[in-house]
Amino acid sequence: MYNLNICHLYPDILNHYGDRGNVIALEKRCIWRGIQVNISNVSLGDAFESCEYDIIFLGGGENYEQKIVLDDLIKEKGNEIKNAINNDKVFLAICGGYQFLGKYIVTQDKRETELLGALDFWTIEGEERLVGNYVFQCDFLINEIYDGKIAGFENHSGKTYLGENVKPLGKVIKGHGNNGEDGFEGAVYKNVYCSYSHGSLLPKNPSLTDHLISTALKQKYKDFVSLQVLNDGFEIKAHNAVLKKII
Ligand code: GLN
Repeated sequence: MYNLNICHLYPDILNHYGDRGNVIALEKRCIWRGIQVNISNVSLGDAFESCEYDIIFLGGGENYEQKIVLDDLIKEKGNEIKNAINNDKVFLAICGGYQFLGKYIVTQDKRETELLGALDFWTIEGEERLVGNYVFQCDFLINEIYDGKIAGFENHSGKTYLGENVKPLGKVIKGHGNNGEDGFEGAVYKNVYCSYSHGSLLPKNPSLTDHLISTALKQKYKDFVSLQVLNDGFEIKAHNAVLKKII
């Protein structure tokens, strides 16, 4: 039987708009296929050994929450987060968590704060917030059932710009995405997936959830080939209804 260990980093602090829903979606779609899941909550002051996990999740938070975890994330867990990334662990980072993995953030008062620097992007705070439901296209998620459109909800003032060593997660169809300027949303590097889309990202988009699960299983089990197809009748209806509302 397959087994996946999921680590939820700072679940008590970085959990904007129900970002925890992403962990629940991963868990459910594993359980429905008979894949065992262990979820570990790791927060401020807790030990974090990345080799114990197959999927790591880091949610979003406003500047206030980001300040609370900044030191712990960089000084106590930073090296292990970098190890996880270099060892091809599956990593999902949302909004404030996404920003943390980059090089720095410049706040509205023009102050630059160094961030983890694990990935090649940076964030500049804008004057207006980029808020609302949005849709972006991820071609790598196109299959017989899903068309690669991802429905999300964004709320950020940080505008993120990608360097040469990361690829965008998708192309914005409606909404703002990374910065409201270049038409890109999120970032991908190795098995790290970053997005501005909050809590409902994976529950609303089963194709992305399954992509993360199967990537993690491929990493862990040499004999793993593909995921059992689930009856997604309800999920497809909900996904299409949300898309219709936004586009
Ligand atoms: N503080 C960040 C911003 O507004 C992150 C916000 C969030 O995670 N929702 O850009």
